[in-house]
Amino acid sequence: MTVFPRLAAVLLPFAAACAPAEPSRVAMAPAPSVTARGETDAVGTANADAADDPAIWRDAANPSASLIIGTDKKAGLYVYGLDGKTRSFLDAGQVNNVDLRDGVMIGGKPGILVVASDRTDRARSAVAVFRLDPASATLTALGKIATAPGEAYGICLYRKDADVWTFIILKDGTIEQVALDLADGAAKGRVVRRMKLGTQSEGCVADDRTGRLYVAEEDIGIWRFDADPAGPTAPIAIAGTDTAKLIADAEGLALAIDGPTGGYLVASSQGDNAYALYRLEDDSYVGRFRIANGAIDGTYDTDGIEVVLGNFGPDYPGGLMVAQDGNNAPHAQNFKLVAWADVLKTLGLE
Ligand code: CA
Ligand code: CA
Ligand code: CA
Ligand code: CA
Ligand code: CA
Ligand code: CA
Repeated sequence: MTVFPRLAAVLLPFAAACAPAEPSRVAMAPAPSVTARGETDAVGTANADAADDPAIWRDAANPSASLIIGTDKKAGLYVYGLDGKTRSFLDAGQVNNVDLRDGVMIGGKPGILVVASDRTDRARSAVAVFRLDPASATLTALGKIATAPGEAYGICLYRKDADVWTFIILKDGTIEQVALDLADGAAKGRVVRRMKLGTQSEGCVADDRTGRLYVAEEDIGIWRFDADPAGPTAPIAIAGTDTAKLIADAEGLALAIDGPTGGYLVASSQGDNAYALYRLEDDSYVGRFRIANGAIDGTYDTDGIEVVLGNFGPDYPGGLMVAQDGNNAPHAQNFKLVAWADVLKTLGLE
């Protein structure tokens, strides 16, 4: 903005008198509230930052039998029903984030592939690979794939036709793309590409439709990359952290996909306990919301989130959002369940 000197002389004392303490501060964008319709059992690690990131499996044939996987980053992986009750726990070590894809060929048969970023060895990251058995709601370990030196933070899967890759995000912003080989049922992988963001990064999600990978650099903002292993490695900025819409840390990312290219990128604005939406087709900011106290307590300091659209039964007919809750006092941390239809209604996006 250009302010002419004489006008500035008139305006500045007025502005100074009226301005908030920090003149550069932008007014925070509105964040209307929804309330959770459900919550999971608390994770087993009490008095610690332990619950971290969810994944969602939708049972298309019987939506009420859908499952949620959640990490206790100090202990392992939980599988929860839509009622939030623990169906199983696997002592999988210190797994940080988790993602899944259904219908992946594993040992010659289609199955539900689950990957988790393994930080048990802080000096050497790994991709831990599992199969989810939906009937028993249990996970079977298929092996670990060693990745770059450093602490494993984020993870997300990308599928194109019969090929599946996992992106693992290290604490220092290193991103490795690993081609997965599940042909004989044991997990093998090969690092095919490496990218780098400048500082601590974690949340990521890939859009199988458009071949785009989204990564959150916690202090800086959200980037997207070409997910194709032969594509360019330079990131494109989508949204910087600020004092209005995306308040650092930028944490978990999820996609609410609609049609061949439409829908929203959802980001945890951890610094003010909110979630921001961006339109996938043009990266434009759409709005933001909070999960406030209701019959179930609201979310605080959210790390991982996940969104899957489609019918999840009577409580979640238009899709399910799951958000980690950093304060579930007096209990240990857990995950909150939100009807995606409530989010769209609150933001006037129906
Ligand atoms: Ca946390
Ligand atoms: Ca996840
Ligand atoms: Ca983080
Ligand atoms: Ca953080
Ligand atoms: Ca809470
Ligand atoms: Ca609670």
